[in-house]
Amino acid sequence: MEPLQALRKIFQEAGELSSADELLHLIVTRVKQATHSDVCSIYLADENKQDWVLVATEGLSDSAIGQVRMHTGEGLVGYICQQQSILNLKNGATHPNYRYFPETGEEHFAGFLGVPIISFRKLIGVLVIQSLSVRCFNAEEEAFLITISAQLAGPLKTTLNQEKLSAISTDENTEQLKVQGIKGAPGISIGKVFFLPPFKELTTVKDAPCVNEEFEITLFNKALEAVKLEIQTSGDKLASSVSQNVHALFGVYLMMLDNDMIVRETETRIRTGLSAASALKQTIESHAQAFDQMEDSYLRARAEDVRHLGARIYAKINTHDTSIDIPDEPFILLAKNLSITEIADFSDSQLVGIVCMEGSSLSHTAVLANALGVTAVMGIGDISRKKVEQQTAVMDGYRAQIIFNAGEAMQKEYKRLISQENILVKGLEKLKNLPAETSDHHRVNLYANTGLLADISPGLERGAEGVGLYRSEIPFMLHDTFPTEDEQTHIYRKVLEAYTPNPVYMRTLDIGGDKTLPYFGFTEENPYLGWRGIRFTLDNNSIFLTQIRALLKANMSTENLKIMLPMVSRVEEVDSFLSLLKQAIIQLKSEGLNVSRPSVGIMIEVPSAMMILKHLARRVDFISIGSNDLTQYLLAVDRNNPKVSALYNVLNPAVISSINHIAKEAHRYRLKVSLCGEMASDPAAVILLLGMGIDTLSMSAFNIPKVKWIIRTISHKQAKKLLVKVLTQEKEECIRKLLEEELNKAGLSALIRAGN
Ligand code: PEP
Ligand code: MG
Repeated sequence: MEPLQALRKIFQEAGELSSADELLHLIVTRVKQATHSDVCSIYLADENKQDWVLVATEGLSDSAIGQVRMHTGEGLVGYICQQQSILNLKNGATHPNYRYFPETGEEHFAGFLGVPIISFRKLIGVLVIQSLSVRCFNAEEEAFLITISAQLAGPLKTTLNQEKLSAISTDENTEQLKVQGIKGAPGISIGKVFFLPPFKELTTVKDAPCVNEEFEITLFNKALEAVKLEIQTSGDKLASSVSQNVHALFGVYLMMLDNDMIVRETETRIRTGLSAASALKQTIESHAQAFDQMEDSYLRARAEDVRHLGARIYAKINTHDTSIDIPDEPFILLAKNLSITEIADFSDSQLVGIVCMEGSSLSHTAVLANALGVTAVMGIGDISRKKVEQQTAVMDGYRAQIIFNAGEAMQKEYKRLISQENILVKGLEKLKNLPAETSDHHRVNLYANTGLLADISPGLERGAEGVGLYRSEIPFMLHDTFPTEDEQTHIYRKVLEAYTPNPVYMRTLDIGGDKTLPYFGFTEENPYLGWRGIRFTLDNNSIFLTQIRALLKANMSTENLKIMLPMVSRVEEVDSFLSLLKQAIIQLKSEGLNVSRPSVGIMIEVPSAMMILKHLARRVDFISIGSNDLTQYLLAVDRNNPKVSALYNVLNPAVISSINHIAKEAHRYRLKVSLCGEMASDPAAVILLLGMGIDTLSMSAFNIPKVKWIIRTISHKQAKKLLVKVLTQEKEECIRKLLEEELNKAGLSALIRAGN
């Protein structure tokens, strides 16, 4: 046996499989081969029955699958589960825990080696090899089995999450199936699942010769024009219900289709003798693969777009129809990938939820779902269509969870939550023009975050008193090149005018990390510790200067601009910015424009900034806590990394005491403090932030009414008292419990779920 080679081969093959069945079969077959043993079997936890069940074997009788079961502590497998350690026996039958199962036909097997399969500290099963001869498996074999079990625990767990154990051996699946995804758009929804079949993959097209060049070129061009028209129509359909930014996404598609290279390259390939479909396949794949190889998530998401467009054109060439009858009842659309044009086609139907097997919160699908107020969960991984189609599912967009085949009780619970939420939203409308003031007259400003996930109008409609965070990178991300000074001025002015005379805190370009520009790609080993925010803009100072000039010009008639700097980690960055600002003002004045100097502030997102507040305070007019990044840097947790994202928690004692420290320090230096991360809309956290005396909370506009309700219900005195108590706590769960008890006492229990 060449263990490394065998391991590599197994992983390579495992990557191509999507069902648990196939994966289990592959493991037992390949491990038996590689170890030259006579049997390889896998036992997994059956959580419903609380025992361990044989789910795959190569060497024992097939009829034993699903039949051989044992409790923890029972038999050799049960013994391994109890001890959570390896068992290597010369002759299994001599062990006191040995139990004979006639179904397996295993009386001939003597040598036994069993290894626990553990994923994220949890035992999920046991991998066993056996031999006919009486012998101990050697150290190399033991190491091989341990490695296989450690490496395959993750993929196995993921696959099993999607296919309940009972479904592996039975075929039918009416069991509830809870799947965790990535947050797309918030909300709670319930509906029948409809699967939208993907357009036939272009990659499946076989290379075929072209019979008539001109005919194929016309065929391709006609298909292209038809797709363009469809996209234009879908965009127009949504023009009145979504923001300009979101509408611009349709422009991105059209721009891709207008790309001369795609047309020219395809036509050239046809002229070299390929059919329209084959030529299109080669062109699309070469463009998509270029995006695939980019490190950052935004650009990789564009590969999806290119492939989707290719598939749509191919569908026209091939007159392939993928439409479904739009159901006349609330429904959840499930697809591998959904394009924005496909969602647009359902915009006036009863679409209540979107679930994508691929994609992330940066996908355009998520952007559009947010704008339309449709719950969305992204990236749930492959799921078997036959097990969920036409079944009722419930979605929790706040937690990025979906429960397929939801039972009566589950549906009832979710219906209750939906109606509770509706009542809540209706009841909160009357708060729109009331101040966010506690019962003992402590006033807090509630501002809206705008940009990727929000818009100008939802904030105004919900009584936002200003914009606390304008993410200026969003218009940059939706453009195909750096927007010009005039284009930027125009965009910024629109936001400033919409909110005048209220303040608008515009953050300068914050790219890097998970936010990258489609036309300015760069790869970094550690993007979150790399060229981000102000580091990037200072190093590209002509881009920075253009943005500062555009901000100043946009502010000329409204004078409500505040400039905010992202990712500041040292005083030199603020000094450099201030001299650029000075330079921009001098330039514009010399051009005859009477611009004024706006207030300047920084975001506190990096722990070092928190520790040098004293020095920073002398240079700026305000600070705003970016709790999203601050939490990630304080706890050293990348929240987009599923392996560690459970450790990301804004109620961590370190996070709370840091924010408390920042608020105290800032007030000591007479600076106003705002907080503009997700934490500002977590009801439990809001009580603490109130207690700390944070002056402004800025959040997605949809959350403003709820947060106002909390503030108007609780007294400042109560909040301060609770903060003192919370600061003595050691654990996140105790803190959450304390805060939820307080929300309950105050009659705010309806808010608990949405905040978690
Ligand atoms: C933050 O880090 O909390 C923040 C508001 O910035 P962003 O989420 O845009 O990185
Ligand atoms: Mg940030």
